[in-house]
Parts: sequence; C-alpha cells; structure tokens
Amino acid sequence: MKHPIKHIGLLTSGGDAPGMNAAIRAVACAGKHYDIAVTGIKAGYQGLINGWFTPLEDHALMHNLCRGGTLLKSSRCQAFHTSNGRRQAWENLNQAGIDALIVIGGDGSLTGAALLEEEYAIAVMGIPATIDNDIFGTDACIGYDTAINTVVDAIDKIHDTAHSHTRLFFIEVMGRDSGFIALNAGIAAGCSAILIPEHNQPIDDIIQSFTKRNLDDHPCIVIVAEGHKNGGAAELASITTQQLPDHDIRVTILGHIQRGGSPSCADRVLAGRLGIYAVEQLLSGASGMMAAVQHHQIRSLPLMETVRTKPTFQNDLFRLSNILAM
Ligand code: ADP
Repeated sequence: MKHPIKHIGLLTSGGDAPGMNAAIRAVACAGKHYDIAVTGIKAGYQGLINGWFTPLEDHALMHNLCRGGTLLKSSRCQAFHTSNGRRQAWENLNQAGIDALIVIGGDGSLTGAALLEEEYAIAVMGIPATIDNDIFGTDACIGYDTAINTVVDAIDKIHDTAHSHTRLFFIEVMGRDSGFIALNAGIAAGCSAILIPEHNQPIDDIIQSFTKRNLDDHPCIVIVAEGHKNGGAAELASITTQQLPDHDIRVTILGHIQRGGSPSCADRVLAGRLGIYAVEQLLSGASGMMAAVQHHQIRSLPLMETVRTKPTFQNDLFRLSNILAM
C-alpha cells in the first residue's frame, strides 16, 4: 500500500473503558504490519500538550490486553479546550515528526480530535471507547459490552439477597445523559423497573407500580441511571420509604466497578477491528473520521458530524422492557 503517512501518534482520553488496551495493541500491530511508526502519548491531551511521548513496548501491549483501564493512561485536560492548548499540541506533534493522530475515547475526546483536524489539517481518526455507549453512528463503543456484563453480574448477586429478605432494591448505574447501560443491563437482569434519563417517569407512577405488586412476597429490583431526571437511587429510595414505610428498601450505587475489569471477548474483538481499520483509513488518505461498527460491518463516519449528533435512543428495547418487567 503506498501512502504518505509515516508516523502515527496514539492517545487515550476521557473516561477509561475496558478494551482500550486492546485498541492500543491493534493500532501498534497495524503499524508494524504496514511499517509505520506508532508513538504512544501519555495521559491523553494533557500528554500531547506537555510532550509526554513514549514508545509502545511489545511486552506491555501483550501484558495489558486482558486488563481494563489504559496502559497509556488517560486524563481530562482543560487546556485542550483552548486554542492555545491545541496549538501547543499541534506544535509538539510536528516537532516529533508525527503526521497523523488516533484518538481513542468518548464523545468529548472525539470532539477535541475533530477540532484539531479542522484547525491544523492534521490527519486524525477517532475510535469510540466509552462504557456509556453514547456515541452516534456506531452500534457499539469499546468498553460498553464489558460494563453491562459487570452490571448484570452485580445485579444477579444482589438478587440473591433481595430474594432471601424480600427487599426492594434501588441500584444506580452510570449514564448521566443516556440510559444504554440501565436499559440493557436492566432487561438482562430482569429488573422490575428501569429508570433512564431519556424517559422522565414520575416518582408517583413508579411507587404506584410497586404497590400493584405484592412487595411482601416478591423482591423488587429497580435499576436507575445516574442521570434520571427525578433523582438517583438514594433520592428515590428516600421518597419511596416515606410512602411505603413498612418495606425493607435498600440502595446500591455500583460506581466505578462498572469501568474496571477484564474486557469481554466482544470488546477485545471490536477494539482489534476498529484499531486496525483506523490505521488503514489513515494510510488510504482518510482524515477527520471515526471508525464505527454498523450492522457488524466496520465503516467510517465524519467525526464532527458524529459528535454533533445525539445517539439514537433504543425505543424498541424500552417498549420491550416494560413488557418484561415483573
Ligand atoms: P470523554 O471523552 O470520555 O467523553 P470528556 O468529555 O471529559 O471525556 O473529554 C475528554 C477530554 O477531551 C477533555 O478533558 C478535553 O481535553 C477534551 N475535550 C472534550 N470536549 C472538548 C471540546 N469541546 N473541545 C476541545 N477539547 C475537548
């Protein structure tokens, strides 16, 4: 393959997601395969601005394939929001002889990548990686499959105790603006109610739905996305306790365990496919694009358009979840 790109810079940015290491490894493998230098940039855009460049060692790539987090580390970098910060980043890339950049991260990180490409015409590819799965244009983001399996595993365990004591549990999961985790994990774990930011269920309706069941005989597990408009798990439990004082009501906030853990097979394979595709796209002259999976096929979409569009809500699944709720 003939191409002008000789040296790719690679960073992970924003919230870490299981499978980022598999994506880093895939980019490095593609670099080797096509005889292109790949340099790691530590701690996301902060490292790009500070010039924290590092070689990617084979043993570290292999050792971290099965680990969550990111071997390149990640950060949130205020300076990259400013044009001065992005200029410094571009100057550092130039100085290091890097002629293309691959950014692995969520919505914010991909927005930063799109801006850098627009302002400095450097070749850029984005790889969507976020446990929230809230990126338009791709059926799945790296990390999401692992996260929902972590949540289902946790709820299965909570179900054991909820069943033994006939308790009502409110379980809070991640999802500030989107309910992908709550909706999908809630269906898989057989939750009695699924509360997500996209649907503003009034608390009175929710409590009424509890009173329709026999709470004395049946455990009840409610999954709540942290961005639910009528309150998180603790608030909802407190309101419910006032109205149903005789019931044993408990709260579990799953928190950061949702980010960690060994990436699932699906996330590792997706990361491998997206990582190699991103390199191949750069070599074929593409830029300002995001690698995505749609109907099992890998394709690319314009980065700026992607980050400016809200992800499509799974209305069909939400309808089913109401039928499946018991
Ligand atoms: P995620 O990528 O997981 O959505 P953030 O939204 O925190 O996480 O974004 C990660 C980093 O990407 C930010 O700290 C910042 O450096 C960069 N970034 C986010 N949004 C923008 C933006 N609008 N312009 C420039 N850089 C951005």
